[in-house]
Amino acid sequence: MQVEIYPEKEKWSELTKRPVIKREQLTEIVAGIFDEVEKKGDSALVEFNKKFDGAEVKNISVSQEEIKDAEERICEELKLAIQEAKENITKFHASQIPEIEKIETTNGVICWRENRAIEKVGIYIPGGTAPLFSTVLMLAVPARLAGCEEIILCTPPDKMGNINPAILYTANLCGITQIFKTGGAQAIAAMTLGTESIPNVYKIFGPGNQYVVAAKEFAQNYNVAIDMPAGPSEVLVIADENAVPEFCAADLLSQAEHGSDSQVIFLATDEKVFNETILETRKQLEVLPRNEMAAESLNNSHFILLSSIEEALEFSNLYAPEHLILALNNFEKYIPQIRNAGSVFLGNYSCESAGDYASGTNHTLPTNGFAKNYSGVSLDSFVKKITFQNLSEQGLKNLGKTIEVMAETEGLFAHKNAVSIRLKKQNERI
Ligand code: NAD
Repeated sequence: MQVEIYPEKEKWSELTKRPVIKREQLTEIVAGIFDEVEKKGDSALVEFNKKFDGAEVKNISVSQEEIKDAEERICEELKLAIQEAKENITKFHASQIPEIEKIETTNGVICWRENRAIEKVGIYIPGGTAPLFSTVLMLAVPARLAGCEEIILCTPPDKMGNINPAILYTANLCGITQIFKTGGAQAIAAMTLGTESIPNVYKIFGPGNQYVVAAKEFAQNYNVAIDMPAGPSEVLVIADENAVPEFCAADLLSQAEHGSDSQVIFLATDEKVFNETILETRKQLEVLPRNEMAAESLNNSHFILLSSIEEALEFSNLYAPEHLILALNNFEKYIPQIRNAGSVFLGNYSCESAGDYASGTNHTLPTNGFAKNYSGVSLDSFVKKITFQNLSEQGLKNLGKTIEVMAETEGLFAHKNAVSIRLKKQNERI
């Protein structure tokens, strides 16, 4: 845990760096994995399962029996929790389905946009250090709402060669039955290139570790789209004198426990809250089951005392956190100043875990500063927007001269002629 007291602004760019593996190193590893999957298909995936996940898997396709068995192993309490989370995620994402609005830009010229679902999508569910069945809801629910026809799912097997039953149960609940036991860069390669068992897809979704993120970036060389770079989790908490140190510490640790390459940032303006949060974080860390991983992540993390909330927001916009928590009394006042963040949690009771699981917002979010130029997953991520237009005879007459003049100036006479020929026909009829 690195503690900084009123650091000079010149030091800020150093403090906003993430603990990432060198890009060139990752790309080389990922390129090698793509090569193997392209050459050997399913058998490469079986080999990688052994190498990276220590799993002997004969058949990478999950069978109906495995799905049925998972349903029986999930307790009622968890089923109810998944159901409630699913309902909230559905409500929030269904509200993103747009009304079609036809706009008459010029008299007789009508333009509009319609959503069309991406037909074949692949979703990646992390499973390396924790089986993130919550991510199944975050991706499968909007994919279904958008109307994607083919949704496939890849996730790494455990050492026994199995997929966590909560992942299988949730996938089945969301109507996904094509599930494959493969993780990491090789899963992304398989969904990009296709193998004997795994169909290739048009767009790949889902968070993951640095290998997964690098593989998704690499997949774009094959004309496959991706949702965004959603890598190791991060949270930035801004606290004033009204913040509760126990709450702040719990929120910081909730991201630190994701993995050793996660990062958390704590910015406070009040010395008492600052010092108590540091103590409280150490105290809560001791009793966490995943405390080794969280401790490693805390080594890469910064606890910074700053002089004002404005300054903290300036730092936060530079850092562009995946998750931003405003543990502030009058947070409304500061909302307009937030420029770069994946998802924002307002007030002392809006813990980040709410958004991770069940409040309704999506937890697949841009990391590593990409909140500067990417949004998190939403219904929009699963559709393309097609524009339509209809010009009546009168509409073309009204707009024709403008198009002709512009086309002629660009030297594109066939463009001009496409208008002129129609206007001429109109004139001949009159
Ligand atoms: P994971 O499923 O992403 O990765 C596990 C896979 O990584 C393994 O199956 C293996 O194939 C591959 N791998 C491991 N070591 C490797 C190596 N040395 N070389 C090549 N490949 C290797 O699971 P994870 O590791 O637990 O990571 C999940 C990540 O997802 C965490 O970093 C977490 O913070 C992040 N996450 C992000 C978001 C978001 O929206 N940004 C949401 C949830 C989780």
